[in-house]
Amino acid sequence: MQTNSKTIKDLLEADYQYTEIILQYLLDMTRSQIFLNQNLELSDDVWNRFLDIQRDLKDGRPLQYAIGKWNFYGYDFIVNENVLIPRPETELLVEEILKEELKDKKLLDIGTGSGAIAVSLDLENKDNLQVSACDISKEALEVARVNAEKLGAHLDFIHSDLFENIEGRFDIIVSNPPYISEEDYDKLDELLYHEPKTALYGGIKGYEIYEKIIDQAKSYLKDQASIYFEIGYDQGKVISDLLRENGYHDVKILQDYGEKDRIVTGKWLKDSITS
Ligand code: GLN
Repeated sequence: MQTNSKTIKDLLEADYQYTEIILQYLLDMTRSQIFLNQNLELSDDVWNRFLDIQRDLKDGRPLQYAIGKWNFYGYDFIVNENVLIPRPETELLVEEILKEELKDKKLLDIGTGSGAIAVSLDLENKDNLQVSACDISKEALEVARVNAEKLGAHLDFIHSDLFENIEGRFDIIVSNPPYISEEDYDKLDELLYHEPKTALYGGIKGYEIYEKIIDQAKSYLKDQASIYFEIGYDQGKVISDLLRENGYHDVKILQDYGEKDRIVTGKWLKDSITS
C-alpha cells in the first residue's frame, strides 16, 4: 500500500499551486522543515486534504479559506467565509498597542472578526490587560471564540453592533472596521468578494463607521484613553480630521511597511472640548 504514497518532494515537483505554504499548514512545519524533510511520505489524510485544497483553489476560493487557517502575529487563526482574512498590515496595530503601558488596562476591539487583533493582544501581554471584543456578526464571534480557546486567550466576547451592547469605559479602543467605499467596492479584486461584505464595505464614502465610532466612543473612553484605527491608505486625513473635530488629542497617522497611511490614533481627555 505504501508504494503509491506521495512524498513532500513529489508534491513540490508537481504542478500544484502554493504547495509549500499549504504543506506548512497541513504538516505544521516551517518552510525549512519542509525542505529538510522532502522524503517524508504524506499520510492519506494529509494527501486528501491537499487535494481538497487544490480543488478549492481551482474553484477560485482564496488560499486562506481553503486551508482554513492563517497566521497572524505568529499565531494560526481559524478562518472561514464568515471572517475577514487577517492581513499582515494589521499586525502593526497590535505592535503599536503593545508599546503602551497596559498593566490592568481595559481594551475593547470593535469588529473583531476572527479575533486576530484581540486574541494576539491578550496572548502577547502578560500584564493583566483585560480584553473585550465585539462583532455585529454572530458567526464571526463564534470563529473568534474558537480561536481564543484554541490559542489559550481569555477574553470577553460581546455580540454588539458597535457600542449597542457595550457597558463601562475602556483605556483603549481599537478597531479595523470596514472602510471600503461604494465606488472602490465595485472595483475590488475578484478574490475579495469571497470575504464578508460586512467586513469590507464601509458605506458610500467608506468612512461612515469611523464617524460613528469616533462620536460614540466618547461615552466609552476613560480619561487619557487611546483610540486606534486601521484605515485605508487614502483615509489618513479624513480620519485624523474627524478625531480632531471631535475633540481628541495627540492625533497621529502611522504608515505601514509599504509607506502607506495605515493607522490613526488619538487620545481622549475627560475635559476634551466637544464642539
Ligand atoms: N485591508 C482590507 C483590504 O484588503 C480592508 C479591510 C477593511 O475594510 N477593514 O482592502
